[in-house]
Amino acid sequence: MGDHGSPDLGGSVPTHCPYCSLQCGVRMWPAPPRPPVVEPTDFPTNRGGLCAKGWSAPELLDHPDRLLTPLVRTDPVDRRSPLRPASWDEALDRITAAIQASQHRYGPASVGLFGGGGLTNEKAYQLGKFARVGLRTPHIDYNGRFCMSSSATAGNRAFGIDRGLPFPLADIADARAVLVVGGNPADTMPPAMQYFDAGRAAGAVHIVADPRRTATARGAGIHLPVAPGADLALANGLLHIAIRAGYVDQAYVRERTTGFDAVRTAVAGYWPDRVERITGVSEELLQRTVQALATAPTAMILTARGAEQHSSGTDTAQAYINLALALGLPGRPGSGYGTITGQGNGQGGREHGQKADQLPGYRRLDDPAARAHVAAVWGVDPAELPGPGVSATEMIDRIGSPGGVRAMLVFASNILVSAPDRDRVADRLAALDFLAVSDIFRSETAAVADVVLPTAQWAEEEGTMTNLEGRVLRRRRVLPPPDGVRDDLSVLAALADRLGRGRYFSADPQTVYDELRRASAGGIADYAGISYQRIEAEDGVFWPCPADDHPGTPRLFTERFATPDGRARFIRVEHRDPAELPDRSYPYLLTTGRIMGQYQSGNQTRRSPSLSSTASDPKAEIHPDLARRLGIGTADLVELTTRRGRAVFRAYLTEHIRPDTIFVPFHWGGLASANALTDPTLDRHSRMPAFKVCAVAVRRLAGPAGAGRSSAAPDDPAT
Ligand code: SF4
Repeated sequence: MGDHGSPDLGGSVPTHCPYCSLQCGVRMWPAPPRPPVVEPTDFPTNRGGLCAKGWSAPELLDHPDRLLTPLVRTDPVDRRSPLRPASWDEALDRITAAIQASQHRYGPASVGLFGGGGLTNEKAYQLGKFARVGLRTPHIDYNGRFCMSSSATAGNRAFGIDRGLPFPLADIADARAVLVVGGNPADTMPPAMQYFDAGRAAGAVHIVADPRRTATARGAGIHLPVAPGADLALANGLLHIAIRAGYVDQAYVRERTTGFDAVRTAVAGYWPDRVERITGVSEELLQRTVQALATAPTAMILTARGAEQHSSGTDTAQAYINLALALGLPGRPGSGYGTITGQGNGQGGREHGQKADQLPGYRRLDDPAARAHVAAVWGVDPAELPGPGVSATEMIDRIGSPGGVRAMLVFASNILVSAPDRDRVADRLAALDFLAVSDIFRSETAAVADVVLPTAQWAEEEGTMTNLEGRVLRRRRVLPPPDGVRDDLSVLAALADRLGRGRYFSADPQTVYDELRRASAGGIADYAGISYQRIEAEDGVFWPCPADDHPGTPRLFTERFATPDGRARFIRVEHRDPAELPDRSYPYLLTTGRIMGQYQSGNQTRRSPSLSSTASDPKAEIHPDLARRLGIGTADLVELTTRRGRAVFRAYLTEHIRPDTIFVPFHWGGLASANALTDPTLDRHSRMPAFKVCAVAVRRLAGPAGAGRSSAAPDDPAT
């Protein structure tokens, strides 16, 4: 164990960065100065490293924009009336009255909950329970639906389990070939790169497939400049070459998998020249990639959102799993398939019940045995539990329609920036009879709510998070929240009390966590043996861990897969064009993503003074050839238009992007909202929107000195 869990280093408290799924270990001192100082620890994911977001995170604890009191509309029935400060009793009474009025008039399902992948396991669990036991509504989903749902679905289909990395992050250093598809950890989680760097220093070949030559791609030996939406064809083409070259691990396929013959037949038509036409990746690069992966003694394939946030995202992740299985990688030391989780608790947040179809422990809500187990832990009749609801996008889309949601409570999510097709989302939120938002700042979504609740931040709360490796770790309270601020567990308990269901809900994190352990026992994501004490003593514990004396499971699939027959499943998948292709009106491809100095909807990081000094201006990345054709120069203001909306960015000319593709970051609302442009078409399996590709038109608006800013202030409601 490193220094992370060591007690009392000068009165400091070990905890973790609030942002991404790497969950870097940090140490903080509760004593002055304010804001507190943060120092990285020797935690296994970061080993003393920290990115700019982690260093700056304490700046937000004392930020002047911090919400310190509940807010309610001056006129309770007019959402255009100003928000004014209110007591907690008044705010909670308004929420309770709105829930009761909606359920009395339209039934229990008329109230919806929307959660977030940044919530602790305790809060994600309690939100799921509050929906089913407190409100008796099927309508709960969360922003992880926009993030991890495609790879999660693919993992469940192939392996019978969904854990982002089925091995510790440090294993990446042992892989002698690594293919990263649609991921840019050098920008999004820089401390993780030490493991990639160690592998390359030991002779590993790294390959990155991405429409942009990102920082990760520039550090790799091979860059595959794949067209947005063509990752599946790329995978099938690689498998085609591997089969023809005799690289398939026949013994592995025979002994550990099923379904290979159908996949072999399917990829027979993915000839390299055809794949080159679809993907834009040359036959020579395809051949080099296969040879690197197939001849290395150890190899990994890692996918991320670039490959997954498509209307065929599940099938795309599946295609890379097929390739990994054919090469005999999953379950072997230093080898395997994994997906790089995004949000801080993107893994735990999808395991314990805030998904529409799910109960704690990654149980299915439509499984009678699962319902009986969880209902017994909750002390309710299984028949009382509602059935599965609909996905996040569908819940928003059906607001106000028969059977749809009329009142909604949002926790830790900024839907007006993070959901696709922003104008449609704004229209649907406006159709709600009532909207309540819990957040630390007045986000774009909070700005249109009827009631806003100020909530505690990461360093002010206790709980657990589950990182990208499936390692459960402790979030520790370093400071109390400011006066007037409450945490979401207290809010849910208070609301349950007002609704006559208070006996089922505790506000104490450890009590909630111990109940979560019991509810997860025997499930896929089994936390039964993972106590707060063990997490602290062992630098986290990997699930599944079914008993106190179980060591946890850092590496999955070493003996068998989590399917009924213990074998991984090949699944035949075919390339389909993106739902929207360029045409005369919208002649280019648009793709979206993250940049180093911002995080998710930017509600937090846009307010950070130190991050704003380097990442305050949303830029559209455009190839110089395309810019020349359109008369666009560096730093010009450009207008991007799609079938759904328009947005304005500053042009950033770079040869590191395909000439047919424009990239914009999605961390801003207002005029620079990437999601005013994106396509809400859903993946048929995971219900993931097609964030990563749509057709776009571009035109120059003004020169570098163009009037006005290209971005709206964080508080601006969507325009
Ligand atoms: Fe935080 Fe992720 Fe940066 Fe680590 S890599 S400091 S967890 S944002």
